[in-house]
Formats: sequence, structure tokens, C-alpha cells
Amino acid sequence: MPYCQMQTAPPAVAIARTEDVFLILEDGRRLIDGLASWWSACHGYNHPHVIEAIRRQAEVMPHVMFGGAQHEPAATLATRLAAILPGDLEHVFFCDSGSVAVEVAMKMAIQFHRNAGQTQRSRFVSFENAYHGDTTGAMSLCDPTRSMHSHFGGALLQQFNQPLPKTPEQFEQLDGFFSENRDDIAGVFIEPIVQGAGGMRFHAPDVLSRVDQLCRKYDLLWIADELATGFGRTGKMFAIEHVGVVPDIICLGKALTAGTIGFAATVASEKVFERFLSDDFGSALMHGPTFMANPLACAAANASLDLFESEPRLQQSANIETLLNHGLSPCRGLPGVVDVRCLGAIGVVQVTNLDDVNKLRAAFVESGVWIRPFGDCVYVTPSLTMQPPEIDALCVAIVDQMTTRSADHRE
Ligand SMILES: *Cc1c(COP(=O)(O)O)cnc(C)c1O
Repeated sequence: MPYCQMQTAPPAVAIARTEDVFLILEDGRRLIDGLASWWSACHGYNHPHVIEAIRRQAEVMPHVMFGGAQHEPAATLATRLAAILPGDLEHVFFCDSGSVAVEVAMKMAIQFHRNAGQTQRSRFVSFENAYHGDTTGAMSLCDPTRSMHSHFGGALLQQFNQPLPKTPEQFEQLDGFFSENRDDIAGVFIEPIVQGAGGMRFHAPDVLSRVDQLCRKYDLLWIADELATGFGRTGKMFAIEHVGVVPDIICLGKALTAGTIGFAATVASEKVFERFLSDDFGSALMHGPTFMANPLACAAANASLDLFESEPRLQQSANIETLLNHGLSPCRGLPGVVDVRCLGAIGVVQVTNLDDVNKLRAAFVESGVWIRPFGDCVYVTPSLTMQPPEIDALCVAIVDQMTTRSADHRE
């Protein structure tokens, strides 16, 4: 099991089926899913349009290698992603998971410089509380002390971890850092607007525009990791649209296939793509997963994009923000609660500490909801299609638990 001490953890919840926004357990209980399976099931589970697309594709061609071969589902998906992404983010590389999409972005950035003879530019800047994935390259970009990977200190690539430029002083500091180290920097990674697994922290849109501005000033590539925030989660199709900035590379995954099949994409701008064009084979992008551009995943992603076109997902995401803000507000000011924040279909109650996290997780299951607190956060990232009664039920469950906990604290 992932991130699990197998000796002490309680047995995992056995899920038999999924249906709309519900998990149906083997013992027949129905839980309202507050997490949409780690931000991915954006239209709820088993959406008939997505399931039908996968079924049809499975009958025609479940998979075929992508080396020297291509197929319509991938071509269509690449064209559609390029069309909805801002600016000239038009060159799509498909891979199998978010962490791998981050690895591919790292390799793109390093090779971008090597192809111009700059072999020294091989380190990355990322920010405090960042989370960029579980593979070793992606782990090196995570916050080295506060992330889930702090136990690996010394065994990973060495990167530059910097404070997010929230204040004028931090902005000055990052400016100075870039100016001193630009010759060693291959690229700058940021999770736009919302940092996910590193603590569910939000930053103001102008933080993102400052990072963009500084990267332009020092001619640094910057990479938007939108694995969590992409596809309507923050109320915009992509979080970079809160500011209107265009990164050099963007990583997409999680909700890409509407929560059905592991899949991700790394999308490069024209400038990055062109740097790989040459008579020399060695200048080509050196990556190619076995299941690259899997047709089932492409079909699911195309069907998901159909739903973003035909149904008001971004409006639904904004409506969920209003409901979460209202529903979680009783947590504000409770002893032990540090902050309550909501954006799009993300609601977070940050606490001083979660001492008995297993007990809290079990209590949520008892009350009929699937919410899995971690770190110092109790959070929800429901399907964008979740209706007000279920959103309210999630909020009530959280408020109840937080109220009980703070009563315990006072004793
Ligand atoms: C989930 C996530 C990843 C890693 O994606 P996987 O598909 O789990 O490998 C990387 N970055 C961010 C911001 C994520 O939320």
C-alpha cells in the first residue's frame, strides 16, 4: 500500500464499485467521495460517455506501440489539448503518470540547453512546500525538508529550493538568486496557484506573474506542474489562466482521463520544440515509455474533453467553491484550526496537528464520507459534478470532526 506503515496501519477499506460521486464498499455501505480519487474523477465515476469511449476503443485497438507509429486518438487528443492550452503550448508528449510527465519536462529542459551547447545548465529551481511526484527526479524537486520525501536527503539530485516570492523582499531575493545562478539553472518548476500534496497551500496570482516575469528577465525556462490544478479544479480550465501567463512547458495528468486510466502529458512551447530539430539524432528528445499514448487513455481523455465542452464544468467548480466556503466556515476560529481556504473545487481545513490520523480517517468512513487527511490538512477535492447535498454532507462531516477534536483539545 502507498505511504503506509504495513505493520500498524488499519486494514484498507474494500471498495467494490464506484457510481457517480459514491464509493460502494464490499459490505454495501455507500460513501460520498470527497477526493475524486486524488483529484482525477472530475465528472464523477463511470460517466457513460467516458466508459462508452473506452469500451469502443478496447474493441478496435486497446494498445499499439508509439515508436514510428501513430494513431487517430492520440493525434486528436494532442490537437485538442494544444487548442485549449494558452499561447503556443502546442507540442504534446504523452506518458503514463504525472511523475513521469515531470521527469520528461526535466529532460526536455536539460536537453534544451545541451542542444545549444550549454551542458552546465542542469539544475532546477523549485519552491518551498512543492510536491512534484514520487520518482527520484521528481522527488528532487519536492521541498527537501517538509515533503513526504525528506527521508531521502542526500540520495537525490541536488536542486535549488527557494521560498515562493510572496513578499517584495522574497521577490528581490529570487531576483538575486536567479541573477547569480542562472548559468547553472535548467528550469524553474512551479505548481501554479495551488501547491498540492506539499500542504494544500494557495498563492495569489501575482506570485505566479512575478515568477513568470523573473524567468523572462533572466531567460530561464519555467515549467507549470498542473497535474493537480488542470482541468477546472481551481475554477479555470488551467490555473495559469488566473494570470494569463504562458509557461515554456506544462505538465498535465490526474483528471486528464477523467479518473479512468493512468496517463499524463508534457506539453512544450514552440521555442522548446524547435530546439530539438536538427540533422543530428542525438538532439532528439530521448524518452519513450512502452505504453506511450495508450489508445484507451487517449479515448478516455478525448471523451472527457467532450464533457468539458458540452457541460458547464468551470461554472460547477466555481459554485462548489461558494458551497465549500459556506459549509466549512464553522471551522474558522475553532481551537486547533489554523486556516480554512477554498478555491474552485478544493476545500482545505489546516490544523495545528493531526495527532491520530487513522482514528480521524475511520471516523469519516463511519459518518459516510471518504476524506483522507494528511500532513496538517483535512481537505476535499470532489468531482466537479458533485451536487449541493453531497457537498454539504462533506462539509458537515468535517465540521463535526473538527468540533469534536477542538472539544477534546480544551479538556
Ligand atoms: C499527483 C501529482 C504529481 C505526480 O503524479 P502521479 O500521477 O501521482 O505520478 C506531480 N505533481 C503534482 C502537482 C501532483 O499533484
